[in-house]
Amino acid sequence: MNDQPQTIHAIDIIRHKRDGLTLTDAEIHFFVRSVVEHTISEAQIGAFLMAVLLRGLDTRELATLTTAMRFSGEVFDSSPLQFFTVDKHSTGGVGDKTSLLVAPIIAAAGFDAPQRLAVPMISGRSLGHTGGTLDKLETIPGYRTQLTLEEFRNVIAHCGASIVGQTPNLVPADRILYALRDHTGTVESPDLICASIMSKKLAAGLNALVLDVKTGSGAFLPSYGAAEHLARLMVATGEAAGTRTVALLTSMDEPLGRLSGNWVEVWECVDILKGIRHPPHVQRMSANLIELSTVLAGWMLFLGKRVDSPEAGATLANQVLQSGAAYKSWLAMVELQGGDVSVFEDPAAHHKPHGRRTITADRNGFLAAMDCTQVGWAVQRLGAGRTEPGQPVAAHAGIEMHVKLGDRLTVGQPICTLFSESDKETALDEPEHLLRSTFVLADTPPAPIALIREIITAQHSS
Ligand code: URA
Repeated sequence: MNDQPQTIHAIDIIRHKRDGLTLTDAEIHFFVRSVVEHTISEAQIGAFLMAVLLRGLDTRELATLTTAMRFSGEVFDSSPLQFFTVDKHSTGGVGDKTSLLVAPIIAAAGFDAPQRLAVPMISGRSLGHTGGTLDKLETIPGYRTQLTLEEFRNVIAHCGASIVGQTPNLVPADRILYALRDHTGTVESPDLICASIMSKKLAAGLNALVLDVKTGSGAFLPSYGAAEHLARLMVATGEAAGTRTVALLTSMDEPLGRLSGNWVEVWECVDILKGIRHPPHVQRMSANLIELSTVLAGWMLFLGKRVDSPEAGATLANQVLQSGAAYKSWLAMVELQGGDVSVFEDPAAHHKPHGRRTITADRNGFLAAMDCTQVGWAVQRLGAGRTEPGQPVAAHAGIEMHVKLGDRLTVGQPICTLFSESDKETALDEPEHLLRSTFVLADTPPAPIALIREIITAQHSS
């Protein structure tokens, strides 16, 4: 890079990508360095991101961008801990809170295993129509997502899992690019999603990684082919960097679980971790969340050699969930990160929205379809997401789904309830409109969609 004779200018990099040329390694490293050193304007970063979204990157460009981002700050060295480090990451969804279940499940099942497992999870904030793990965790009073690497290591050493955000020092390039992508319509690029996710995951020094790549109406890349392409890109990027990487292609055609938002998602997970039994019509709303979380955890346990197959891993994951062991690990992790665990005694009581509104069926029929991205935007516009980078999010905004795709509804039956923190009743109007216009009631039931569509490993897909 330093032996490049000619001077590099940001404007030339943008023009090259805009015109469909292939960028040199030196240009990509220059761009990432300029982002981190704040020597390039946000306008130029936005233009570059749009050029990448429109023109794409080839395999080498993508590998270089991922590496430059990965090493844009400190990297996490987990080797002193002597754990096998394994993580999972989702490409983003609506009501997707599996991280809050998977991390304590692995800690509970793997912390004392002969090959000790740990989850050093570096997560993100809400992006576009999707929620962010950090925004959810920060609704727990006192919970710190910004730890130093030393603190991160200590939490992992004590309980086997830690969920943090990128600090200014950890993958700073992604922190900046992620926020700008959210505001420049450049989230939906397989290359940018791959570089964003894999730079964070590789900076965490993982031994193994399980990716949850969403497909369907609520995914950034809704088409099956595009999601599969992204999954293969990420598996290849991870494996090339020496991290065992597996991707599960999973459906995001309706929200995952019962609740979508920030605190409400923590609440749903705490109920599951505590083994709270709701009435069956409520309990069933969390079934897809529990299934996906235990299957993802099963793969992590398998890659960490805790079990002999992913299926045996899912069984073990269910056991630690049901025995309360995962809840103990969750409490330990939250406390070690400064969180006040007393809010988990009665999480429903901690949910304090100002406004509520329930949407009901306007006819008899089957819930045949919804645009899950639109549901995600409704959640974000209720206040759960941000309209400007760095803005605070509303802890208690969100929605509760009362029915699933394929359910037979009668006129007047509740479909979902909206929660807003605003004291203005009108704050519920736009989200209500988004939701009303997206639920399709029909005379015939839709074809069922499998939750887990395909599993892609470096060797094969099934
Ligand atoms: N999650 C990330 O970390 N980055 C993306 O670009 C999308 C989902």
